[in-house]
Amino acid sequence: MIQLHDLQFKPFINAETLEGAVQKMVDAIAEDLKDDMPVFIGILNGSFMFVSDFVKKYPHPCEVTFIKLASYEGVKSTEDIQRLIGLTQDLSGRTIVILEDIIDSGNTLEEVHRIFKNENVKQLLIATLFYKPEAYKKDYKLDYVGLEIPNKFIVGYGLDYNGLGRDLPEVYQLKTTQHMTNLV
Ligand code: 5GP
Repeated sequence: MIQLHDLQFKPFINAETLEGAVQKMVDAIAEDLKDDMPVFIGILNGSFMFVSDFVKKYPHPCEVTFIKLASYEGVKSTEDIQRLIGLTQDLSGRTIVILEDIIDSGNTLEEVHRIFKNENVKQLLIATLFYKPEAYKKDYKLDYVGLEIPNKFIVGYGLDYNGLGRDLPEVYQLKTTQHMTNLV
């Protein structure tokens, strides 16, 4: 059990399982894009650890960059998403693979689609390490999913709770108590 600010979290996904899930995603994407030179775009901040591990394993030449959006305050998803850091490079004609840490409501993904709609890319593929099917409210296709997880708040492996927990090499799940069941 770990304590971050006022909340307790219990161990949920260990480092070995995470590594296996990342490797499977690498294998699938490398097979599909072996004749392409994709641009991997990580969504900051949560994806930094996933992207780092992913591209170290990726066996073909590729480009890596990041954009920053925000949709979470504390443990609750908000509708208020802003594009904080934009893309500077010309992506026309390129295969783009979005590397997301987690897809929850899908609001962030909607914003990603909005951003790339006018970029004239060859194809836009979505890869997410974690996916909460019970929370997902959109219809956008998810091309590569690492691990499906229940609709509970997690931290670790890049994901934080109010700034803490990003550095943890394993993933922890919020330990809910009775009065919190309507919060998450
Ligand atoms: P969505 O826009 O799909 O609701 O949520 C996507 C973003 O919200 C993620 O990139 C992540 O920053 C944040 N998020 C969603 N679920 C969780 C979670 O369980 N834990 C943490 N720490 N962040 C989450």
